Amino acid sequence: MARDYDVVILGGGTGGYVAAIRASQLGLKTAIVEKNKLGGTCLHAGCIPTKALLRSAEVYVQSKKALDFGVEVNDVKVNFEQVQKRKSNVVEQLYKGVQHLMKKGEIDVYDGFGRIMGPSIFSPMPGTISVEMNDGTENEMLVPKNVIVATGSRPRHLDGLKVDGKKVFTSDEFLTIEQLPKSVIIIGGGVIGVEWASMLVDFDVDVTILELGDRLLPTEDDAISAEMLKSLKKRGVNVHLNVKLDPSAIDVQDNVSLQLDETEISAEALLLSVGRIANTKNIGLENTEIEVENGFISVNDNFQTKESHIYAIGDVIGGMQLAHVASHEGILAVEHIANRNSTPLHYANIARGVYSNPEVASVGLTEQQAKDNGYNVITKTFPFKAIGKAIVYGETEGFVKVIADENTNDLVGVHLIGPHATDLISEAALGLFLNASPWELGQMVHLHPSLSEIIGEAALAIEGKAIHF
Ligand code: FAD
Repeated sequence: MARDYDVVILGGGTGGYVAAIRASQLGLKTAIVEKNKLGGTCLHAGCIPTKALLRSAEVYVQSKKALDFGVEVNDVKVNFEQVQKRKSNVVEQLYKGVQHLMKKGEIDVYDGFGRIMGPSIFSPMPGTISVEMNDGTENEMLVPKNVIVATGSRPRHLDGLKVDGKKVFTSDEFLTIEQLPKSVIIIGGGVIGVEWASMLVDFDVDVTILELGDRLLPTEDDAISAEMLKSLKKRGVNVHLNVKLDPSAIDVQDNVSLQLDETEISAEALLLSVGRIANTKNIGLENTEIEVENGFISVNDNFQTKESHIYAIGDVIGGMQLAHVASHEGILAVEHIANRNSTPLHYANIARGVYSNPEVASVGLTEQQAKDNGYNVITKTFPFKAIGKAIVYGETEGFVKVIADENTNDLVGVHLIGPHATDLISEAALGLFLNASPWELGQMVHLHPSLSEIIGEAALAIEGKAIHF
C-alpha cells in the first residue's frame, strides 16, 4: 500500500530529524526514513560520543591537578570501561529524547533503507520513496509531495589501507574500543584528528599525528594552528607536517609501522581521519535529474535540487559539515516547502568548534581570508592569562584574535583558543550576525569575573583601549 505525505525525509541524522520536527510544527504530514538509528553521525558516532570521551579525559587531567587547588585526590587512574559506559549512557539518554520528539510530533518513522524512485504508478514525478524495511517486511512505498535528502556522510578510507577495526580504525570503529592502546598514529590533523589526539594524549596514550598540509587545523586562522601545535607538542604529541604517505606501504602486523624519511614510526593502532564522503550512492539519484558535483548533491539557496520538490541538506551537500549547519539547513528547507519567509543562511556568520584541550572556536574570516577578500585588515589578540577568571580556573593557555576592517570598522572574524572557547564564541557570532563593530562589542559591559571579558577586551584593543593588557 502506498502512503501519502507532505514531506518524507531520507535520513534521520541531526539534519533530518530536526527538519522533521519543524515540518510537524508547521502542520505538514511528515515521515522520516532511517536505516540505522535516529540521531545519525552526530549522536551516535560524532559530536556527542567524542565530547563525552573528551570530558572524561578532562576530568582525569583536572583530577591530577587537584592538589594545586588544595584538594587531595589519591591514586588517580582511568577506568576505561567506565569511560565507555558513561559515553554510551550519554548517547542513550539523548537518543531516547529524539525518539520521544518523533512521537510527540506524530512523525512516522520507517526503520529501513530508502531509495528515490523515478516516475511510477504512484506518481508521475520522481520522488516516491521505496523503503526496504530492516525487519524484512514488505517494502513500504511513501508518496510525498516533497522529499528532503539528508543521508549524511561516512569516513573516507585510503586506497591500499584496510580498515579492520583491530589495528586500523576510522573514528567510527575507534569509538567502541574496549581498551586504550599504548600508542596511536593519527593520519590527518584536521578537526577530528586533533580532537582524538588531544583526548588520547590526555589519557596518557603516546600519540603521533601525520598531516599532509603545513599546519594543523588547516581551516582555522594561522595563529590558532600555531598555538594548537605548541600545546599538543608541549603535552608530548609528535606532530609531523607536510607528510606525503603511501598508504599501501604501511605495514600492519602486531604493530602498525611506516617509514618517514629515515625514521620508522610504529604504534599499536592507526586512526584515519582524512575527511568524509557524502552518502549519495544507492539512494536512487539516477532516477532523477539531481546533480552531484565533487561528490556532493548540488542545491540552490533554498536547498532545492534540480528536481525542485526534492531538497537536500546537511553533510550530503558539503560545505560546512557540521551538525548545527545541517539542522539549520533542514529548518530552512522545510520553511521553504511551507512557503514561510525565513532569514537566509549566511555561512560566514556560523561558528565552528574544535573540542580539544584547549578548545578552539571561530566565526567569520581568518586573517588570510580577510586579506584575500580585500579588507584593510587590523587584528588584535588578547591572552587568557590577563583574564581574572581564567587565573581563578587555572586555565590561562590561549587567546582571542579579533579581525576587523580598518576602513569600515566592521568585525570580520573572531578566533578563540582556550578555556570554554566553544561557549564563548556565540557572543562573537551574534556580533557578526547583527553586523556589530568591535566598538559595539567593547561597549557592552561584560560580567566580572567571567571568561567572556576576553571578547570585550580584544574588541577594545582594536581601538587601542584594552584595559588589562
Ligand atoms: P548524518 O548525521 O550523517 O545522518 C545521516 C543519516 O542518514 C544517518 O543516520 C544514516 O544512517 C541515514 N541514512 C543514510 N542513507 C540512508 C538511506 N538511504 N535510507 C535511510 N537512512 C539513510 N559536528 C558538529 O557540529 N560538532 C561536533 O562536535 C562534531 N563532532 C564530530 C565528531 C566526529 C568524530 C564526526 C565524524 C563528526 C562530527 N561532527 C560534528 C559532524 C556532524 O556529525 C555532522 O556534520 C552531522 O552529523 C551531519 O548531519 P546530517 O544529518 O547531514 O548527516
